[in-house]
Amino acid sequence: MILYFGVIPGLAQNDKDRAMTYKQSLEILSLIRGAKQVLVNCHQRPDVDSISSALSMCQALKKLEKDVQVICPDERLPELEFLACFDDFKKVDFTTFNFSDYDLFIILDSASPEVVTGNKNISLPGIKKIVIDHHLTNTQFGEINLIDASRSSATELLYLLFLDWDLNIDKDLATSLLTGILGDTGAFEYHNTTSRTLQVAADLMDKGADKDEILLKIFRSKQMNLLKFWGEVLEDLRVDESGKFTWCAIPYNVYKDLGEPQTARESASSLFTRMVAGTEFGIVMLEEAPGQLRASFRARSTDFDVSKIALALGGGGHAGAAGVTVVNGSFDDSVKKVVETARKFI
Ligand code: 5GP
Ligand code: MN
Repeated sequence: MILYFGVIPGLAQNDKDRAMTYKQSLEILSLIRGAKQVLVNCHQRPDVDSISSALSMCQALKKLEKDVQVICPDERLPELEFLACFDDFKKVDFTTFNFSDYDLFIILDSASPEVVTGNKNISLPGIKKIVIDHHLTNTQFGEINLIDASRSSATELLYLLFLDWDLNIDKDLATSLLTGILGDTGAFEYHNTTSRTLQVAADLMDKGADKDEILLKIFRSKQMNLLKFWGEVLEDLRVDESGKFTWCAIPYNVYKDLGEPQTARESASSLFTRMVAGTEFGIVMLEEAPGQLRASFRARSTDFDVSKIALALGGGGHAGAAGVTVVNGSFDDSVKKVVETARKFI
């Protein structure tokens, strides 16, 4: 099969006749062209795909000669310093930030408003919103929504959008896009990796992205306290009495004593909970702030959809990786709630 990304040879190259991957692409481009100051978000506790997609969009907007600011309710990952536009990132408080300077908000890799603001009690600003995402559970909360759950990552989706725009993907932009793809696919290990993902990655390498440098930065540049946290997870990890899943639950004091390492829960769940023979999925629960338990779910194979468990608890995500925050309970009660809900799905 031949896959055409962007322009089909032989067709006229004006916007109307070009073969588009997404029907929303030109409407999004025209809204951007009409805007003066554009905001781009990273979601709460941003992962590699969140930051890489935001910095990729930031670079694209600069090519379109727009003023752009990347905002996030939490800190960025320091290991992504090598990406262009890293300094355009700003941690902000959504209750005090002055949104009136901006006329467009591009929201990436974020399934719901609460992951944008970092708090379900804080609503989004009243400016025009374009939501671009690859989460199946996205609640489509923008004026324009471009949701493609068949894509591994927000960055893989953006690659196709940029081709629809006929945007020049230079080495810096190719690097940012490939970084997000490598992050969200676990270097092509997770089952969200498709042959199309590999084709996109191959083209990005041809455009100058250095796979080995990216892998060194995002997978082999950790702080020791994160490895010590992984040790706590392995120590506590057990196979549930049902025999169908693994789980562990780490209380806040352990996390605090280790300096609250970034990506602790997400990385541990992706690395370890899916490895035990005979199980279908795994859960890492972590009390990230006193009284606030977050859970990460990871499926061991494509036979099981963990997003159903997360949705039942009020969270969301993908078939292979999902999450939720549980509040209003003691540590033990919240853990029990998550484990008992998980048992209903086996
Ligand atoms: P993680 O376990 O890495 O935090 O999340 C796995 C996936 O589930 C991510 O794609 C993330 O966006 C999604 N996810 C995690 N927590 C929540 C949540 O509380 N609500 C929703 N809607 N999605 C979540
Ligand atoms: Mn993502």
